[in-house]
Amino acid sequence: MLELQRWFLGLALSAVIGGLGYRSESLSSGGVLGAVAIGTIIFGAGGWVWGILLIVFFASSSLLSRYREDEKAGLSDKFAKVGRRDLSQALANGGWGAILALAFGLWQSPILFVAFTGAMATVNADTWATELGVLSRRPPRCITTGDRVPPGTSGAISLLGTAAALAGALLIGLSAEALQLLASDGVAQWTAWVPLATGLGGLTGTFFDSLLGASFQQVYWCDECHKETERSTHSCGTRSRPLRGWSWLDNDAVNFLSSMVGSGITASLVWAVF
Ligand SMILES: [Zn+2]
Repeated sequence: MLELQRWFLGLALSAVIGGLGYRSESLSSGGVLGAVAIGTIIFGAGGWVWGILLIVFFASSSLLSRYREDEKAGLSDKFAKVGRRDLSQALANGGWGAILALAFGLWQSPILFVAFTGAMATVNADTWATELGVLSRRPPRCITTGDRVPPGTSGAISLLGTAAALAGALLIGLSAEALQLLASDGVAQWTAWVPLATGLGGLTGTFFDSLLGASFQQVYWCDECHKETERSTHSCGTRSRPLRGWSWLDNDAVNFLSSMVGSGITASLVWAVF
């Protein structure tokens, strides 16, 4: 396929998926813009294997956020806000992957694909952990202090959430390996190490996300509800005030940095073996 054709096909496909995301209330209009830009770059510069991995992340995360939605809205403040993802959330989740795709367009190095797989594994793991972990029957613990904290607190981890993160990362790793085999017309051989490294990389990236959430991430306080929140405007509509953390390190910046960390670890693990 000609490169220009692939970019146009990527644009068309991303527009259709972005439209579906808007209709199903997964994306805001800004979120559609971000998803179309990221989808076009990843599909155009990376190729169809890269594009399908992005779709696996987007589809599985959107489905899980709808799973037991009413129950989750009651469990945690985090889910009380409208479920639509906005522009900065889309860039936080897909931005590093898009940068890797652009680099791959220039240098075609296979390690860039492994790094991309690790980035997608981390954002997928993080979303799965959040969406399923909140349903844990036991209250989660803070990753730094070990204290029991309310569900949805920044930096909270649970056994269920950790298992969900590993499953989300492994799904990306297994999909990547299967797609690479398909793309190589039987030339490449199945190796278990790539999915495993992706699982470990994605899980570590998610733990890094929790560590920043518990330490340096900007956390706000709502004086109206007497609750912690990750957003500068609380779900009740009240403007919240900074409680702790660095003002530039919001939830989106944490997600972006975590996807870089998960991507770097996955690439290092694969590079160390091959
Ligand atoms: Zn409030």
